[in-house]
Parts: sequence; structure tokens; C-alpha cells
Amino acid sequence: TPGLYLVATPIGNAADITLRALAVLRAADAIACEDTRVTRKLLTAHGIGTPMISYHEHNAARMRPVLLDRLGAGETIALVSDAGTPLISDPGYKLVRDCVEAGLPVTTLPGACAPVTALVLSGLPSDRFLFAGFLPPKSAARRAAAHELATVRATLVFFESKERLAAALADFHAVLGDREAAVARELTKMFEEVRRGRLSELAAHYEEHGPPKGEIVIVVGPPAEGDGAADEAAVDKALAEAMERM
Ligand code: SAM
Repeated sequence: TPGLYLVATPIGNAADITLRALAVLRAADAIACEDTRVTRKLLTAHGIGTPMISYHEHNAARMRPVLLDRLGAGETIALVSDAGTPLISDPGYKLVRDCVEAGLPVTTLPGACAPVTALVLSGLPSDRFLFAGFLPPKSAARRAAAHELATVRATLVFFESKERLAAALADFHAVLGDREAAVARELTKMFEEVRRGRLSELAAHYEEHGPPKGEIVIVVGPPAEGDGAADEAAVDKALAEAMERM
């Protein structure tokens, strides 16, 4: 049936794509993608000749009405990102929002997603988690963002670049306390690695060895019951809220 299909693609291992995803990519009228060179590789590998439309951060506002018109005319459009699940730190949210508002059909073909893959490999509690995406690159802003999460009783999942990994771990240690954590690297790829330990240990490791290769997800366990840092943060937060009301 026509409509917008949100299609997950691999995050590293080319075989991590579903049979249904391949069928929809083949049958669609068009594939909206971030980088046509990246998506062309995927399509070529599977002998798919569906035309591509570029849809990325910088042309999204201009392209959305075009895609909505085509969907409104009864076309089938698949949305993919360069890797993993579209909309997860990738474009697509506003397109879905506009489709919903316009009453156009939207569905998803689930598959690879780096945050969930890292979470399940981390060995940290998986019953409650908060995906926080990329935090700001500068330390002060990153600490402030982490501070907002300090009282959340859930495992926290972050994306981070390899260059900033050690600094981010040190900031998390400073703001969240010395929690159990994991650094998941090159997931589903040949050199997949998960390094587990306290935030202080992980920060020291990457400080000493320099930035690792590849793509990274940081997973930080929840605060321990009665955790000092979390309690302190709770006090700060209550204080800030009280001051706002004054
Ligand atoms: N939409 C994607 C998803 O569903 O996983 C995420 C896109 S986001 C722009 C890219 C970030 O995801 C990378 O900087 C890295 O933090 C993480 N990532 C993607 N693939 C990864 C992999 N194979 N191993 C570890 N992290 C990965």
C-alpha cells in the first residue's frame, strides 16, 4: 500500500537488512535518503534500481512539501538514513509529523539501531533507558546537559565522536558520579568491541590510549540507590525550580 515507509538499514554489517526492507526499497516509487552515494552502495549491492531523492538536514524544509505532494498523489516513498533507523539522530521527524498532520499513511520497517544494540550489549540494566543522542561538543555545555540527566533513574545512552570520548567520559564522571558504564565501538562490524568499567576507569583508559577507531556509543548505568551525585543533583534541581517560582 502507498505511503511513507521508514526503513532501517545496516549500522555496519551489510547483511543486517530485513527481507521486507529490501522488498519495499525495490517496490517504492522513490527512496528519500541522506547521502545518495551511501544509499546507492546499498541499492547496488542488492540490485535495486529505485530512484533516489536527497533529503537531508540542509534541504529538508524545501524537500518536505515535494515529498508530501508525491505521497498525497498516492506514491510509495521509502525514507532511509545513512545507517540504522531513520529519525534516530537522523532526519525524518518533521516529515513524519507532517504526514501525520496531513493524514497520509506512515509505517516503519524496523531494524538496526546503534543505541539499542549498545544497550543490550552493555550488561547494564535495560528495563529503563534514556537515549540522549549527541550532547554538546564543548565541556561546559556537555556537563550542563549531563547534569539535567543526573537524577534520572535509568540507564543513559549517548552518541559521541571518538575524538571527544575521553573528555565526555571524564565529564560524565564529574557530573554523574563514578557509575558503571560501557563504551560500545564498531557495533556489528569486524572489530566490534565493548569496554566495560567505572566511568573513571574508562576515562583513564581512553585518556591514556588516545581516541579509538570507529563509531561509538556510550552507555552509563543508573545511579545507585541513595547515590550522592544523584541526590545532590536532585537538590540542585529542586532549588532551581523553587527559584523560578520566586
Ligand atoms: N540512525 C542511526 C541509528 O539508528 O543507529 C544513528 C545515526 S547517528 C547520526 C550516528 C552515530 O550513531 C555515530 O556517531 C555513533 O555514535 C552511532 N553509531 C552508528 N553506527 C554505529 C556502530 N556500528 N557502532 C557504534 N556506534 C554506532
